[in-house]
Amino acid sequence: MSLIELHNIRKVYKLGSGKDAQSFIALDDVSLAIEEGEYVAITGPSGSGKSTLLQIIGLLDHSTSGQYLIYGQDVLKLEDDQKTEIRSRFLGFVFQMFNLLPRMTAYENVRLPMVYRGKVDHDKIIQTLNQLGMGSHIHHTPAQMSGGQQQRTAIARALVNSPKVILADEPTGNLPQKHSKQIIEALESLREEGITIIMITHSDELAQRADRIIRIVDGKIESDSVQKHKLEEKNRENNPYQLKSFNYTNWLLLKQTAVMGYRALMKNKARTILTMLGIIIGVFSVVSMMAVGEGAKINVEQELRRIGSNMFRIQTTWPKIKGSASHYRTVTRINKKDYFSIKKEAQKKGSSIKNVSAVLQGDKILSYKGYSYSTKVLGVNSSYSQMRGSEPEFGRFFNESENNNQEKVLVLGKTVYENLFPNQKNPIGETIDIEERKFRVVGLLPSKGTSWGGDIDDVVYIPIETAAKRLFGLNYYHFLYVQAKNEKLLSKAIKVVENILRKNHRIDSGVSNDFKYKNYGEMKQTISKISDTMFKLIAVIALISLIVGGIGIMNIMLVSVIERTREIGIRKAIGARSRDIRNQFLIESVIIGVVGGGIGLSMAMFLGMALRFLLNWEILFKPYAIFTAVSFSVLVGILSGIYPANKAAKLSPINALRYE
Ligand code: ADP
Ligand code: MG
Repeated sequence: MSLIELHNIRKVYKLGSGKDAQSFIALDDVSLAIEEGEYVAITGPSGSGKSTLLQIIGLLDHSTSGQYLIYGQDVLKLEDDQKTEIRSRFLGFVFQMFNLLPRMTAYENVRLPMVYRGKVDHDKIIQTLNQLGMGSHIHHTPAQMSGGQQQRTAIARALVNSPKVILADEPTGNLPQKHSKQIIEALESLREEGITIIMITHSDELAQRADRIIRIVDGKIESDSVQKHKLEEKNRENNPYQLKSFNYTNWLLLKQTAVMGYRALMKNKARTILTMLGIIIGVFSVVSMMAVGEGAKINVEQELRRIGSNMFRIQTTWPKIKGSASHYRTVTRINKKDYFSIKKEAQKKGSSIKNVSAVLQGDKILSYKGYSYSTKVLGVNSSYSQMRGSEPEFGRFFNESENNNQEKVLVLGKTVYENLFPNQKNPIGETIDIEERKFRVVGLLPSKGTSWGGDIDDVVYIPIETAAKRLFGLNYYHFLYVQAKNEKLLSKAIKVVENILRKNHRIDSGVSNDFKYKNYGEMKQTISKISDTMFKLIAVIALISLIVGGIGIMNIMLVSVIERTREIGIRKAIGARSRDIRNQFLIESVIIGVVGGGIGLSMAMFLGMALRFLLNWEILFKPYAIFTAVSFSVLVGILSGIYPANKAAKLSPINALRYE
């Protein structure tokens, strides 16, 4: 059985397309058999079809018609992966243009076919490089080597997987005379290892050294002459080549590919960062907006907890009068009677109401020993302190008997204290003037900070009766704060209070209330609704920016596939399967996605920390938000890489190699 048999091989190139399409017959009915161990030179004028023939033998290209057998097996019928397997284990290529990968060292170039096979044998790589005299140049990249050294590296690469056949297309065509000799000697020495050599050459002198010279003219074999005696039949190893399954996941390759992908991206830092920008901005904006949003939600919740989601507020309202006089009615303002009725209700056993406080408020100027300060004066019941969590830090809150006696006592908010007592003197027992009435300070409240942009420490509290009779001169209240026993009893408490007030104000059934509520429990729901809407909005913004980011990645990956077309051709020629090429580009786009996402995430974290420590903002990073943002960026990386990666994987090896 012959090693290689070609029967009636034809190769027709199509030129142009549509009506102008022409065909060119590059090989016309070529039949030939090559035995194991032969040293064959192929000669002929330029353009006669020599390279085309070698590429068909090398399974880089396919013939238009005819049959190609290796050890009797019809290889043209094989699947692409199986052809790759033959290229990788059985054949070794040496090109006129060397075709080394420029960014890799000699060692890495030679290692590559092994990586594609899934097993690296370091000693074999070194030994092969030594055999070709490249031992002292293993860490040089092609740019740091002479042409001869590059070609010797390329031969080492062809040999490293111990092929049976070396295919060389004018291996010395680009080399000066003195380097050519070394190359030819290196190739010829392979014969002793039983390797079959098929070499295209222009040089008659080189051709004469071969066992057999095949001369091709105009796509046909013109002559086929055996120079020397063929090797004895018995000397040949007769172990036909066995196809092995090539259908495995090459972990070594994936690892190497990730390293290579990382290096390729680092090589082009500016471009990589620009490509990542969409993802960076997307992840950054989502994560930081979510963190700020969650923080704001917490703020609001804390606020509501302080007010109490079991609280509501009542104030007088004037019914709208629509022209007709029959709608007119008098309005009873919230008053002392209302307060006491509700208070009485609260004291009943099993009542839904826990506590109540009336409120009068107004801005007044306070003065103390030459200092004066304008602030909000709140007249409240003593129960207000417990209801709103306003326990003094120093001194005490006033009590109900002080209220009933209309005593001029006062509890200071922190901001007011700081303005009236700049020397931080103990204020308890001091006298402060409000509109020439002398108030005695009984308590100082702790600082509570700001809320909704307002300073909640900028306030003083006085008893409501003192406020009504002595300061404001009013016989009604601005508000009543009512506290239900708990949030669930809130609506029941509202009903109870409504009935009391309607009765007190003598409102006939069918006539609307002359008071209205502000329900803090409802406010909480409203706020969580608002934050839900905001969340959806953020999600949409994020999605858009991630899509834009994905398009950016896809764009760059497509450019990168075109830029590296030759590289893809080389990789396929030395044993990369389509899926290996696809993975290579996918891994790169995933790296862009992951790193971009990571950068966006860390920027958001950094901003969050800065806002928290510098501006004292409430910031909350929820793990699910981080997880979602990062997995989205990985997904975007994958999705935007699929199309370019498939495009790269589909390239035929020879078209990719020919790409300029
Ligand atoms: P050689 O190697 O003997 O110089 P080739 O095998 O490269 O010749 O080419 C044989 C002929 O086929 C040439 O005339 C060339 O123009 C033509 N040819 C080679 N490759 C292509 C191609 N991809 N498309 C069209 N024509 C081609
Ligand atoms: Mg050629």
